[in-house]
Amino acid sequence: MRMYDIIMKKRDGDALSKEEIEFAIKGYTDGSIPDYQMSALLMAIYFQSMNDEETTIMTESMAHSGDMVDLSAIKGIKVDKHSTGGVGDKTTLIVAPIVAACGVKVAKMTGRGLGHTGGTADKLESIEGFKISLEREKFFEIVNDIGLSVIGQSGNLTPADKKLYALRDVTATVDSIPLIAASIMSKKLAAGSDCIVLDVKVGSGAFMKSIDDSIKLATTMVNIGEKAGRRTAALITNMDVPLGHAVGNSLEVIEAVDTLKGHGPQDLTDVCVKLAANMLNLAGKGDIKACTKMAEDAIKDGSAFEKLNQMVKAQGGNAEMLNDTSRFKKSDIVYEIKADSCGYISFMNTEKCGIVSVILGAGRETKDSQIDSSAGIIIKSKTGDYVKAGDVLATLHTSKQELVESAESLYKNALQISEEKPDPEPLVYALVNKDGVKYYN
Ligand code: URA
Repeated sequence: MRMYDIIMKKRDGDALSKEEIEFAIKGYTDGSIPDYQMSALLMAIYFQSMNDEETTIMTESMAHSGDMVDLSAIKGIKVDKHSTGGVGDKTTLIVAPIVAACGVKVAKMTGRGLGHTGGTADKLESIEGFKISLEREKFFEIVNDIGLSVIGQSGNLTPADKKLYALRDVTATVDSIPLIAASIMSKKLAAGSDCIVLDVKVGSGAFMKSIDDSIKLATTMVNIGEKAGRRTAALITNMDVPLGHAVGNSLEVIEAVDTLKGHGPQDLTDVCVKLAANMLNLAGKGDIKACTKMAEDAIKDGSAFEKLNQMVKAQGGNAEMLNDTSRFKKSDIVYEIKADSCGYISFMNTEKCGIVSVILGAGRETKDSQIDSSAGIIIKSKTGDYVKAGDVLATLHTSKQELVESAESLYKNALQISEEKPDPEPLVYALVNKDGVKYYN
């Protein structure tokens, strides 16, 4: 078999066979197929797409490129969640403790920031002493003891995805439905949980810009999960505006703590309760109404916050910082961006807001950049809010004064201010599960 023929077949719009897909994935992972040939295949897939069967084969092949984690040492049903990536998306920090507080185990492997989107591993590392890398036995022990642990993806989890994602990132082939589906679901299948809830983001800060595409992506991923014997559901959630007010690592941990204590922003709280309810529902804890109440109660009675405390302590972190968030390291520079004119914020280019936080130091400009854990943005006014000239739109947090000017200019450029109040957009558009699509509006 030759990679050249596989590229040509996909370029011409034909479906690839199981053998051809496995040959390409295996060869690229072991280094026998070079970047330039895989780049050509990715671009051919980007334009010609793949059918459900090809996508499933690619997912399985990527999942089996490294360790398939066996979670059977952890008692009970294990449930996982995955977001397709957003700005201000700190939901794992809130949802995982809620679900664990309701008696369902969460053994989660999580990633770092990608492009303009943040990553849970980077956020957790802003807590002093928190260990994101644990031996597998320790990880199992913590989940068995307290019901949850969140660790970084181990070196040999889906090595095919690691290489492919890095290549897609630099060849403009990230936003392809079959490639995203295979990337996410290969990691979820390899990570071993019984149930998977996917948070498929849609809007200006997401990889999927239209509802139709997000539903297509969600349906593809749900079908792959169910075919592999995992109970899978997806919520289509709004990423046309950053979630909550905080963007940046320690800033987001502080907002997650506020939310677990019952006084977080409404949009963030609502999305987290819905995600948690769906995770509990898949794990067999009751219907959505009962699971929603369970999730809300876990916030109200403090048990979800206590779970986060327990996890931080178990993973070597300084849990005192959660009880007194003023102990998180502060940025030297806190700069207020003020509105130049009055009117309603009618649109926020959320991807640009994410890029501003990366510029300030909250993300990586290159693979090897160091994260500044206290850097980021606190957004004061969001889409739909009325602002007067001189009102504070957002505060920028950074340790480097020289970054402020370009960050301010890009942030202002991300916002549209107009006389008309925009129509409110839904927070959650739809649920996709094995029974199909249920729209909420
Ligand atoms: N997140 C992933 O893990 N992979 C993608 O391709 C996109 C978002």
